[in-house]
Amino acid sequence: MSVTIDLSNKTALVMGVANARSLGWAIAEQLLLAGCRVGFSYQGERLQGELEKLTKDHPNTWIQQADATVEEDLTALFARVKQEFGELDYLVHSIAFAPRTAMEGRFLDTTTEDWNTALNVSAYTLVACARHAEPLLREGSSIVSLTYHASQQVVPKYNVMGVAKAALEAATRYLAADFGEREIRVNTISAGPMRTIAARSIPGFGGLYDKGARNAAFGRNATSEEVGKLALFLLSDLGSGITGQTVYVDAGLSIMTVKE
Ligand code: NAD
Repeated sequence: MSVTIDLSNKTALVMGVANARSLGWAIAEQLLLAGCRVGFSYQGERLQGELEKLTKDHPNTWIQQADATVEEDLTALFARVKQEFGELDYLVHSIAFAPRTAMEGRFLDTTTEDWNTALNVSAYTLVACARHAEPLLREGSSIVSLTYHASQQVVPKYNVMGVAKAALEAATRYLAADFGEREIRVNTISAGPMRTIAARSIPGFGGLYDKGARNAAFGRNATSEEVGKLALFLLSDLGSGITGQTVYVDAGLSIMTVKE
């Protein structure tokens, strides 16, 4: 089912699409359906071919390489946004990473290096990207990122990523306060488990996914299309008045303990 909404005079930057399963792509699909012009940034040259393939039938798109932890890449990326669009309406941050070593053992054994990497890539980059975007953001524009319920409750093996997601959610509130005067909204979407590259790198993700499907109120996991539709709502004027929030789209998984 598609939502009828016209974003043909709007512009978006979607950061963090690796392939067609990426939640960033599910969000971009909804934006493109609504007529939005969309720029994409991808982490490294190895992803370029995939992005070219995904965007080739969408004339209102462009792509650029940018590692979100590299200041010069962000400077070049937002210069491109300015050149292509002039101004920016929507920023989508769909980026996370933690070294495998930090997700295999005990949280107690997290090294400083792994902690710094996970929190830098998965939380701080939202702040850095928002700061780079600030001069281009129109009044009433909107930022969304992606989080996960392991920020609130312990999910086995999620470890330092749970802490990074808690930081991302707190950063969302502080950014929303800073941007509040211009009514620029900042929200984060808490998605249930989805089969993506990032998820596959979490040890035991298969079991977590199956358990999610059994325990969720709907008796299934949420879909990436549902994530895309929530993002469309939060980014567009439909979400006006909502800022600083963590909004769940998980088919009612987080509200349950264990189903009877
Ligand atoms: P994905 O692997 O498709 O996307 C993650 C993206 O992060 C990739 O495109 C990767 O290139 C990018 N990335 C990593 N380090 C980067 C860097 N330094 N600079 C730029 N880009 C970088 O997986 P996904 O599941 O679509 O992940 C997107 C977001 O959704 C993440 O924040 C993830 O934590 C979140 N999320 C995923 C799930 C799930 O179950 N898949 C659930 C809740 C939240």
